[in-house]
Amino acid sequence: MKYIMEMRRLRKSLEDTLVLKDIDLKVRLGEIMGLLGPSGSGKSTMLRCLNRIIEIDSGEIIYKGKDLKEFVPEELRKEVVLVPQESVMFFGTVFDNVAYGPSLQGEVDKKHILNCIKDAGLDPEFKDRDARKLSGGEKRRVALARALALKPEVLLLDEPTSGVDPKRKEKVEKSILRFSKKRDLTVLLVTHDVDQAKRVSDRIANLRNGRIKGVYESEEFEGGAAF
Ligand code: ADP
Ligand code: MG
Repeated sequence: MKYIMEMRRLRKSLEDTLVLKDIDLKVRLGEIMGLLGPSGSGKSTMLRCLNRIIEIDSGEIIYKGKDLKEFVPEELRKEVVLVPQESVMFFGTVFDNVAYGPSLQGEVDKKHILNCIKDAGLDPEFKDRDARKLSGGEKRRVALARALALKPEVLLLDEPTSGVDPKRKEKVEKSILRFSKKRDLTVLLVTHDVDQAKRVSDRIANLRNGRIKGVYESEEFEGGAAF
């Protein structure tokens, strides 16, 4: 399987606005694809279609060779995992938050949870902290660890470093690179930061006003930091 996800003539309106306009995009198995576009270009909407938090109006999404509609949404969301821009922390510690998903599926592997906390760029001591008292940037990393704990096949990251200070931002970017290779993950990374897209992605899809303007190998992409 070369492509894990294929979008074909995908259209989606929200209220009366056509937000995604005939999107054709193929995501390779195991790659980090940067989805780059200015605010309002439809990036978050596209991610939400891919794990069926919202349903597309027309077109197709093919996942692992099958129409996405054939998957049970709740099951799909355990393997195509979205880390939204705003992540709500549950009651309890960081450990409780990260272990929550796996605990619903059976016994929790403590070592796995601690590894996910580490891979998300958090110090191990964070495990006992009250998740709801963390800073915005720390919460973003707990949300990332929580997603990793589900052992996803596709990770959908919506602006994972917004609200993260520059030093930590670099750390998060490095973690994304590290865990995606280590776990053989496919990642869709939404960002409006051209430099970040170039640093982290294998390929970049350039989204403008709901249309794909081009798909590039990262090193060949020459969009300036225009947005
Ligand atoms: P991005 O993530 O690239 O900033 P979004 O996917 O959030 O863009 O939004 C794309 C467009 O859809 C924007 O013009 C936004 O105003 C509009 N939009 C987003 N959510 C809704 C909604 N629930 N109802 C109506 N329009 C929406
Ligand atoms: Mg968005």
